[in-house]
Amino acid sequence: LFIDHPLTLGQGIALGSDQAHYLSSVMRQGVGDEVLLFNGRDGEWLARIERLAKRNGDLVAVRQTAPQMDPPDLWLVFAPIKKARTDFIVEKAAEMGASRILPVQTEHTNSERIRQDRLQAHAVEAAEQCGGTFVPEVTDLLALSRLLDGWDATRRILWADEALVGPAATLAGLKRGPWAILIGPEGGWSESERARLSAMDCVTRISLGPRILRADTAAVASLALWQAELGD
Ligand code: SAM
Repeated sequence: LFIDHPLTLGQGIALGSDQAHYLSSVMRQGVGDEVLLFNGRDGEWLARIERLAKRNGDLVAVRQTAPQMDPPDLWLVFAPIKKARTDFIVEKAAEMGASRILPVQTEHTNSERIRQDRLQAHAVEAAEQCGGTFVPEVTDLLALSRLLDGWDATRRILWADEALVGPAATLAGLKRGPWAILIGPEGGWSESERARLSAMDCVTRISLGPRILRADTAAVASLALWQAELGD
């Protein structure tokens, strides 16, 4: 269970209404039962339920069961698409160890806004489900051009370009370190975006194979490629 609270030995933790409901009504837990907690910073902890009502309750942290495990420094930058598919991208990126998830508006992006809080909640659920101790931050929608204006070139960019059809890239030989994967919208990249990205030294343009993949598939495929060669 994710809990936004410091976790140390003997620490008392007051449950919010959703968490109390989840433990009492969904998981059918009660006083004396134990539950695994993480907060994204202090590893995984076993906690005991001291008091549990439908809308509140108290836990106490008993012992640390796993140290904090942070993923490699990999960002996923993507243009949001339809709601359910955007949810899918965030969920899979969190499962596959992205350290930060950045929805961006590109020239051909349809969506003007996202529900950042909803997407962050999906990232939390994904981290809970795969037993991770880290939750990637999902940032609010921002323009790709602005993101690139302030780009720190020590973070290399893996740019998935559908115009580069052909065999899927191998990433062997690329340097380890901070990376960002860049996935375009259903409408693909504009010519000016292509020109800008091509002119950046920190960008490596890759193909994901001879077929045009949907953006959600492309995100998962490129995360897998990166993890296979440059991940932990
Ligand atoms: N509308 C575009 C077209 O028909 O050419 C397709 C865009 S595709 C659905 C969405 C994004 O997924 C692309 O901008 C790119 O980042 C990525 N993508 C999909 N297939 C790819 C491939 N074979 N190679 C590299 N990137 C790909």
